[in-house]
Amino acid sequence: KFIGIDFAMQGMCVFSTGKRAEYPMFYQNTEKKLAREQRKLSRCQKGSQNYKKQKKRVALCHEKIRNQRKDFQHKLSASLAGSFDAVCVEDLNLKGMAGGLHFGKGVHDNGYGLFLSMLEYKLEERGKYLIKVDRYFASSKICSVCGKKKEELSLADRIYYCECGNRMDRDVNAAVNIMNEGKRIFAECA
Ligand SMILES: [Zn+2]
Repeated sequence: KFIGIDFAMQGMCVFSTGKRAEYPMFYQNTEKKLAREQRKLSRCQKGSQNYKKQKKRVALCHEKIRNQRKDFQHKLSASLAGSFDAVCVEDLNLKGMAGGLHFGKGVHDNGYGLFLSMLEYKLEERGKYLIKVDRYFASSKICSVCGKKKEELSLADRIYYCECGNRMDRDVNAAVNIMNEGKRIFAECA
């Protein structure tokens, strides 16, 4: 059983099955709290007692976010490794480094790389596979039904339309393409 994942936005991924894994709301709240505490810090005079206290609060917030994110990633990777034989993802560089799809401020270390390594070892433990699809593979532009490729697709287009009649959530369409490309790579290696 194969599954493809498209990492669309911060903390959220979309699966080729059509499902989404939302980053839990109560985790997002911690990120809002961090933003608040950071604003407070910016108003404190550097070197003052208040500044030091506030700096500690910010650090604690950061740590909590790191832990919550790790927890989320552990649960998600465990459930994927339990349910599928092969998980197809885009190679790290595409979204991790290209910049264009950075996930909003404060979440640059969103841990996509960490997530992939967790997923990889959990799959390996079970004799399963993580298949990385080339980062230049145009997962969002290709129609996952007929294979036709669009020249233009703006980020604002949330629904993928194709002449063949395919009408699909753009992220799901991308996830299906990632899965299909993964299957192709797998077949080549087998
Ligand atoms: Zn089509």
